Amino acid sequence: MDYENLKMADPEVYDAIRNEIARERKNIVLIASENYTSPAVLEVQGSVFTNKYAEGYPGKRYYGGCEYADIVENLAVRRAKDVFGAEHVNVQPHSGSQANMAVFFAFLKPGDKILSMSLSHGGHLSHGASVNFSGIFYKTVSYGVNRDTGYIDYDEVRRLALENRPKLILVGASAYSRIIDFRVFSDIAKESGAYLMADIAHIAGLVAAGLHPSPLPHADFVTTTTHKTLRGPRGGMIMCRAEHAKAIDKMIFPGIQGGPLVHVIAAKAVALKEALEQKFRDYQAMVIKNAKTLAGELVKRGFKIISGGTDNHMMLVDLTSKGITGKDAEEALGKACITVNKNVIPYDKRPPAVTSGIRLGTPCVTTRGMGGAEIVEIADVLSSVIQNNKDAAAISALAQRIDSLCNRFPIY
Ligand SMILES: *Cc1c(COP(=O)(O)O)cnc(C)c1O
Repeated sequence: MDYENLKMADPEVYDAIRNEIARERKNIVLIASENYTSPAVLEVQGSVFTNKYAEGYPGKRYYGGCEYADIVENLAVRRAKDVFGAEHVNVQPHSGSQANMAVFFAFLKPGDKILSMSLSHGGHLSHGASVNFSGIFYKTVSYGVNRDTGYIDYDEVRRLALENRPKLILVGASAYSRIIDFRVFSDIAKESGAYLMADIAHIAGLVAAGLHPSPLPHADFVTTTTHKTLRGPRGGMIMCRAEHAKAIDKMIFPGIQGGPLVHVIAAKAVALKEALEQKFRDYQAMVIKNAKTLAGELVKRGFKIISGGTDNHMMLVDLTSKGITGKDAEEALGKACITVNKNVIPYDKRPPAVTSGIRLGTPCVTTRGMGGAEIVEIADVLSSVIQNNKDAAAISALAQRIDSLCNRFPIY
């Protein structure tokens, strides 16, 4: 895209986009929730479908002229069903949080109890955090990970479920590096008479590729984002059994949303077509391989990884023994052109604005085509930055190594 029209119409926004392109080119992104969409997905998001109102669903719209909007929404739904083996899919949620909101609003009443993973142990804001709608409307009981192993404590989940009898149990995380056993969660939900909702926002790409067990056979509702490992446009999606289809669809529209983002839905269709290709499966396998390499190389350099390693695309690094906070590490790494996010670790003694950890993921570097040798180089630079975080000269020398890596693996 050359943005020639934008350049004339709005030089300030034009400059911001040019600078963002440059930033994405020259930084190694290890943010576990980000990715780079294909040029095709990017084109579709900038398409004329952004002009169209299409309230309702294919064949039942409240506006005329929806014949092509119907085509792209039907394609997105059919492909999502193929990718995940879902009975029913709603591709209209504007975001992962709105997908979650629709499930809650459709099946819970204000004041009902939910059981979910604590935000401080890897859960998501929309899973009942007090500052979020989910924590404002519902009573949250939280489970976490075992202090020694870093794995989800399934016995604790069962105990809390039987003690508290929540209306809904929520499984899924933003910062958990191990396989999640959805079957055990399903057993616990049945024993305690709760709905089971799985939020696979982070691992959707791995699930799509068959590299993480799918929650579809076990959960009543599965929500996801489409822009993390799934590598599509920024948005959300809900999958459920046919019996719940009506309630979910009604709650997305007219319940909590108006017109769907047809340009984003069209981009979801394109991304889901990509997700059906062998190339995509190979990509997801490489994401996991790279994450395991990164974790191993960091352990070799004296870093502590929560739970000792990773089964998926990400890991949580405990920086306590390195004598640096997550906040300072994020800042120092940023100066060396490595983008990460600070993250609380389970049982963290520091507040969320400081933290004792960083979260790292490999979806972005893998999309750039990087493999083993590059991951070793990244781990080495990352470790050296942490070691020399107050030495500006050392950091700028390390930034040179990242620069040459970025030039060898261009993203745009
Ligand atoms: C990222 C994420 C979401 C929400 O996504 P948004 O699109 O940012 O609202 C929901 N659940 C989990 C587990 C996530 O990691």
